[in-house]
Amino acid sequence: MGAEGSPRGRLIVLAAPSGAGKTTLVRALLERVPNLRFSVSYTTRPRRPGERDGVDYFFVTREQFDEMVRRDAFLEHAQVFDHWYGTSREHVEDLLQSGASVLLEIDWQGARQVRAKAPDAITVFILPPCVAALEARLKGRGTDTPEVIARRLRDSVADMRHWNEFGYVVVNDDLERAADELEEIVRGGGEQHRTDAPGTAERVARVFADAGS
Ligand code: 5GP
Repeated sequence: MGAEGSPRGRLIVLAAPSGAGKTTLVRALLERVPNLRFSVSYTTRPRRPGERDGVDYFFVTREQFDEMVRRDAFLEHAQVFDHWYGTSREHVEDLLQSGASVLLEIDWQGARQVRAKAPDAITVFILPPCVAALEARLKGRGTDTPEVIARRLRDSVADMRHWNEFGYVVVNDDLERAADELEEIVRGGGEQHRTDAPGTAERVARVFADAGS
């Protein structure tokens, strides 16, 4: 039970390769599900234009980050590409105690740590419809060189291979449908989207069909 006698909230972990439409889905989910709160992560990555400290991330130095690691302040933390990211244990715990459910938008390494500490967390991996669609979305940003795009694509496909470590899989071939599926899962349903449900492996195989080996 939470502090005021409310039931303790659930921990929801969402992971997706960059280019799978995760940000839009997170926004949709937060709008649809009452009492669902977003956990703002700490990162050593520089702030991008338009990002706000304390809203998108808490932007910290490597020294501040390392100090938090030493204090065991992170529920999970990981190096993703060139930077460090972590989830504040206290922040998440306070929200859960208040009865809110908490949404963590983290990578597969962090999800693995959360699962070890909180086996009842709902973990969802979002996949793009196919690798070509991912490539198109990465190119569509229009800001990166072909080399950067090629590297991102390689990294994203490597990340995607961790899909079966998650409890549920959502294929984002249609934004509205993917948002519906996510909402269903977060509300405690969506058995048919379980990683081990009949048909899921075939559905995922179609996503990877154009990826090569
Ligand atoms: P970006 O720098 O593009 O915002 O995020 C890069 C990657 O870091 C994404 O895959 C995102 O899910 C992941 N990430 C963001 N916050 C955290 C966190 O607190 N912990 C972990 N493990 N990964 C995170």
